[in-house]
Amino acid sequence: MIAAAPRARAAIRALVAYDPGHDLVALRRAAAVPLLELGSNENPYGPSPRAMAAVAACLGDIHRYPDPRGGDLRAALARRHGVDGAQVVLGNGSHELLMQLAQVFAERGDEVVVSAHAFAVFAIAARAAGASVRVTAALGAATPMPHGHDLQALLAQVNAATRLIYLANPNNPTGTWYPRADFEAFIARVPGHVVVVVDEAYAELADAPDYASAIASIAAHPNLVVTRTFSKAHGLAGLRVGYAIASLPVAAMLERIRESFNVGGLSLAAAEAALADSAHLEACRSRNAMQRDALGTALRARGFTVTPSQANFLLVGFGVETTAIEAALLAQGVVLRPMAGYGLPNCLRISIGDAAGNARLLHALDAWRG
Ligand SMILES: *Cc1c(COP(=O)(O)O)cnc(C)c1O
Repeated sequence: MIAAAPRARAAIRALVAYDPGHDLVALRRAAAVPLLELGSNENPYGPSPRAMAAVAACLGDIHRYPDPRGGDLRAALARRHGVDGAQVVLGNGSHELLMQLAQVFAERGDEVVVSAHAFAVFAIAARAAGASVRVTAALGAATPMPHGHDLQALLAQVNAATRLIYLANPNNPTGTWYPRADFEAFIARVPGHVVVVVDEAYAELADAPDYASAIASIAAHPNLVVTRTFSKAHGLAGLRVGYAIASLPVAAMLERIRESFNVGGLSLAAAEAALADSAHLEACRSRNAMQRDALGTALRARGFTVTPSQANFLLVGFGVETTAIEAALLAQGVVLRPMAGYGLPNCLRISIGDAAGNARLLHALDAWRG
C-alpha cells in the first residue's frame, strides 16, 4: 500500500516563504542590553497618541466582530485621497493586498514583471498564484539612482502574457524612487490588460521635489492600483492595516476575495485616529528626513556607500566586511537587516532611528572599527 500524503499545488511546492529577518523575540529574550531594532523599518517615534487612545476606547467592544466593511476608515481614506469610498480596499497590512492582487489577476501561464531588488513579496505573490516572474535589471551603480527601478526595462518585458507589474515607490530595500515624469511616461505606454501595482508603503515619508504618489493617475488609468500602509510612517505595524486604491472595477474584484473581518476593530479605530492626526505624521516625517540626512552623511564620512533614500531606512554598502559588521553590531545589540536574499550581499539595510538610536548605531560601528 502506498501511503497517501497531502500534496500542495505545484506553485506552492516550489515556493520559498518570505524571510522576515532575525527572530526578534528570541533575540530580545537573550539580550543582555535592550536591543536597538533597526531591521524592520518601524517608526521610532511610535503612533499618534490619538491612535493609542482610540484603541483604549475600543477595548470594551472586543467581544464583537469589527465592521466588516471598515466603512468609517474607508470613508476617511477616500476623503483624504479624493477618491470614492468604493475605490478603497482594506487589507490586514498591505502585504495581504499584494498577495491578493496576484491571486485576482494572475494564474498559471501568466507573467508578472518586477525589478531586481524590489520588495520580496511581489515575486512570492506572483509565484503563489502560479504565474511566472520576469525580473529586470535594476539601474546600475554609476547612475544617480543605483539599484533603483528601471522603468524602461520593466516596460520592455511586457508582452501578451503579462498580467501584472509590481513597482515600489520608494522601493524597499533600496529606498530609491523614480520621478513623477518618468512614471507618467511609463504608465501611458503600459497596455490596458496589464495591472500596474505601485506599492507606496513609504510615500508619507518622501519629500523629494520630483517624487509623486501615483494615486492621482488612477482616474486616467483604470489598470493602476496603489497600495499604502499604516505600518511605517503612521507607526501602527503591530495592528496590521493597509489599503489599496484602485479603479471601481479593480477594487470590486479585490473585494470578492477579501475576508469579511480582515481588519480588526482596534486596528480600524487606531488607523482612523492616526489618519486624523496630521500633526503627528508631519512631525514623524520631518524628524525622519532630518535623521536620514544626518545618518547618511555620517555613514558616508566613514567611507560607506549610501544609496539615495526617500524612505525611513538606508541601504548601505559595507563591501567585503558586511557579514562581519552585521555580526559585530548584533553582538552589541544593534539589529540590522542582511540583504543577501535581495541579491545585495555587500549591503545592509538600516532603519533610521531617532537621534539617540542613530548615535548608538554609529557608536557601535566605530567600536567595531576600533
Ligand atoms: C513594510 C512594507 C510593506 C508591508 O507593510 P504591511 O502593511 O505592514 O503589510 C509593503 N510594502 C513594502 C515595500 C514594505 O516595505
